[in-house]
Amino acid sequence: MPAIRYYAVIISNFTPQTKNQIQMKKISVLLTAILMVMTFSITRAQSNRLIPIEVQKAYAAGTRSKDGRPGPNYWENHAHYQINAELLAAESSLKGTEKVTYFNNSPDTLHMLVIRLYQDFYKKGAARAWNIGSADLTNGVQIDYIKVNGEPVKMPAGQYGYLFGTNRYIRLPHALTPGDSLTLTAGWKFHIPKTTRNRMGNYGKGRFFIAYWYPQISVYDDISGWDKTKFNGITEFYNDFNDYNIHITTPPGYAVWATGHLNNADEVFAKPVLKRLKKVKKSDKIIAVVTQKDWDKNKVLKNKGANIWHFTAKYVTDFSFAATLRYNWAASSVLVDSATGRRVRVEAIYPDSSDSFQRADYYARKSIEFMSYEWPGYAYPFEHMTSFSNGTRSGGMETPMMANDGDPKDTTSTAGLVFHEISHSYFPFFMGTNERKYAWMDEGWASYFTGAFSEKMAPEYPYFHRTAQRFSRTSGRQMEMPLMVPSNLICDYSSYRIQAYTRPSLAYKFLRNALGDTEFKKALHTYMNRWHGKHPIPFDFFNCFMNATGQNLMWFFKPWFFGPGYADQAVKEIATDNEIVIENVGGLPMPVKVVCKYADGSKDTFSESTAVWNKRQDTISIQANKTKTIKKVVLGAPDVPDVNLSNNVWEK
Ligand SMILES: [Zn+2]
Repeated sequence: MPAIRYYAVIISNFTPQTKNQIQMKKISVLLTAILMVMTFSITRAQSNRLIPIEVQKAYAAGTRSKDGRPGPNYWENHAHYQINAELLAAESSLKGTEKVTYFNNSPDTLHMLVIRLYQDFYKKGAARAWNIGSADLTNGVQIDYIKVNGEPVKMPAGQYGYLFGTNRYIRLPHALTPGDSLTLTAGWKFHIPKTTRNRMGNYGKGRFFIAYWYPQISVYDDISGWDKTKFNGITEFYNDFNDYNIHITTPPGYAVWATGHLNNADEVFAKPVLKRLKKVKKSDKIIAVVTQKDWDKNKVLKNKGANIWHFTAKYVTDFSFAATLRYNWAASSVLVDSATGRRVRVEAIYPDSSDSFQRADYYARKSIEFMSYEWPGYAYPFEHMTSFSNGTRSGGMETPMMANDGDPKDTTSTAGLVFHEISHSYFPFFMGTNERKYAWMDEGWASYFTGAFSEKMAPEYPYFHRTAQRFSRTSGRQMEMPLMVPSNLICDYSSYRIQAYTRPSLAYKFLRNALGDTEFKKALHTYMNRWHGKHPIPFDFFNCFMNATGQNLMWFFKPWFFGPGYADQAVKEIATDNEIVIENVGGLPMPVKVVCKYADGSKDTFSESTAVWNKRQDTISIQANKTKTIKKVVLGAPDVPDVNLSNNVWEK
């Protein structure tokens, strides 16, 4: 469990008090109480019209509070997954049986279950966000049987065709009442894609990364009931916090890394590996746990035949694993919490042919340190972090404690990629956000933190300049969707990218700029402390930030998150007495940077923080030197996006 930092102010003290002091204290408690009532929330600061009906109902039901806290009646459902899976590497498929115990903590009686069959993404005729070609088309997940409390049930596929996409609904033979649980058992098998891999797959040469795999009970929550979002390739995570008990059988020669804890290391790994692993627990130095030499000498695995790998993970939102032949394994550990001495195992696993992953464990260490001590500045909350390189050039995909990374050509891209995927450990895996509806609640943070890391580690490689340029090309265009439009409604991938990554990462950056580092971090930690292990929605984020800072931040949230609003500042005029008037044409609050050149050859540089716009005014004034003659004014900065630069210069 992570170290939790509370920002509550403790006002009691044990020194003897005079009558006067006691009186003063009473007044101060009263004032605090009044202030607390006055703290802002969206409902106070705005009319209800910005708040969807479902969210208004959640406030009325007490599952969420208007001050940004989980409500007194907050609940979420929970499950225990026991899965026995077998990797059939030669035929590129995975088969398994599972037993799921599902607990209904909701106040509702459930008459049905929604089961996610992610690998139906590859089913002939399935709706997909992109064309996958024919190489990996299948008949979908093959379900051998499915039972609820031991009774076989049907999972109709034909009745509604593909209307349900990758979801299958089960009508429960007996309703599941509040507080009760049921057992779902299933036997299944699916083809592991090897040509058009989507976030997981068979990467050839004995390299498998398995995610989005087992039949999974969807999330039932207080906002939408069952999450029925289809997996069309774009949509990512929204899972309950569950417990996993997993056995994976692999063919001879395969090593396995996975979410959670390996319970039988001494049954699967050879002695030299176990010895080095023990050292890793206390080592800041990166240790070569497995090299090609070890594979050559058969000194990696204990057994020559098939192996069974037993992993457990508690209260995590998903389980994934990598199974590979002849991978290198570099590992070390990082102290993430000096108060408890807790260390995290940080490792990189990669094929010997990799271009840049030899340095990956170093970047992973630096990432975990940065995240634990700087941004978000919250001790890394899991037992280990394993970055796997699949050897292909493209992209990366996060899962809890396991990242499925590509193999970028240069070291800067590798550092950025490794960091980005690890940072998802916080959003969405620690925070339990619904990435399917509000992708900016995790991709936005991952992009923002990657930028903050990049600014520190590689200042010569200006991350936010590129983000700002990208946003300048897209902001305010028709294809740019407001952040409050549910992400799963956006079918176009380039529109999705702007909404999930570009706009929110700048919004977080400028919010930090507006609040200052201390207030921003205080608000971020308040939000994290209140909502980790739960399912926060955008309003919980907005309200936490307003509640923690005691400020009405709707002047910022409304244009950036609800829209409309785009990035365009202009020099409106030079008024009398050299007052430079800056207009916020696009309406997005951003920092203001002005260079003013005078006729005598001298110049002044003026900077205003984003907070200068907090009165929602259209213009602000900057006082230049009254005694000089202004020759030229240039507005803007490389990290401040602007869709129209032609109105940024004033010249006499
Ligand atoms: Zn991401």
